[in-house]
Amino acid sequence: MKFIAYSEIWRWLEGLSRDMEVFVPTVRQGGDVGLAPIGTGKFTLDYRRLSESPKRLLFPQVEEMFRFRGNEVEGSYDYEGGARMLFGIRPCDAAAVATADAFFRREPPDPYYVGRRRETVLVVVACSEPDEGCFCPEAGTGPVARFGFDLQLFPAEEGFWVQVGSERGEEVLSEVEDLPDGEEYVAGFEEDVLKKFEDMPDLKRASKVLKGDTEGFWFEVEDRCITCGGCTYICPTCTCFDFYDWTTGEQGERIRTWDSCVFAGFTREASGHNPRPSQGHRLRRWFEHKLTGSEVPHLLYRCVGCGRCERACPGGIGMRPVVEELVKWSA
Ligand code: SF4
Ligand code: SF4
Repeated sequence: MKFIAYSEIWRWLEGLSRDMEVFVPTVRQGGDVGLAPIGTGKFTLDYRRLSESPKRLLFPQVEEMFRFRGNEVEGSYDYEGGARMLFGIRPCDAAAVATADAFFRREPPDPYYVGRRRETVLVVVACSEPDEGCFCPEAGTGPVARFGFDLQLFPAEEGFWVQVGSERGEEVLSEVEDLPDGEEYVAGFEEDVLKKFEDMPDLKRASKVLKGDTEGFWFEVEDRCITCGGCTYICPTCTCFDFYDWTTGEQGERIRTWDSCVFAGFTREASGHNPRPSQGHRLRRWFEHKLTGSEVPHLLYRCVGCGRCERACPGGIGMRPVVEELVKWSA
């Protein structure tokens, strides 16, 4: 198997950055760690969950789609940027990218996302320690990725053993040396990490409960929601969006922005009627959507178990607490 020593990682990534845009785990103000272009901040391998998933690097929060003058569109719909590598994403994030792929690649495919995604190499670093609130084993997405990566790196004492997931992954590894014995280490890795997870929410049970009548439950939860949208913005598998036109006279640009199903305006119809009239209805829909299926054949849910929504919500309405409360409520 290929092996990259920790002392060589920076040199390898810097070498690749001559031909592609490389994003690496970077310490941000406040001490959390997120992906940023290499060389723009302090690189680190000392993190558990990235505070933010790679969602906005594939599906920006605000994006110009095209410009227009009168009825004429100017420019092209195609992605015009070059190759990129997202180094250091976690297995749950790779599963979330697979979920977004399934959404944006449906007919007709979304040219903006699909173009960017086609040029993006995903390098997963398998988790050796769960972060607070993580439950990827329950969601079937970690702590080791089974699909959806070009390379997967397994942390060992002096460096990473590397599993190749695609031809593109193989290409970026051409300079890296082969060493014997990695297979055995990789085979035992997951078992050791799984022992470190405790108290995971029962997604299977919650998924069953959500198929029945849970209206009363959501009326108890809705008072804690201040409709900030944080849960949906931070969730790596939320992909809803809206459009706006910015115009000056006859010309302008069409902008796409993230939207959220927890906002009343998301389903309000032109007549003023809203099929999801209360915050409870909207929250129920969000949790149902996350837990009652997936378009990705390897996944049971659209929740990948990252635990970020719990961290983001000022009202304690994350996936883990809600699943626990729902299971208790239904007992
Ligand atoms: S619902 Fe919450 S825990 Fe699940 S993927 Fe989204 S942010 Fe992560
Ligand atoms: S993060 Fe919490 S308070 Fe904000 S919209 Fe989501 S559930 Fe409501």
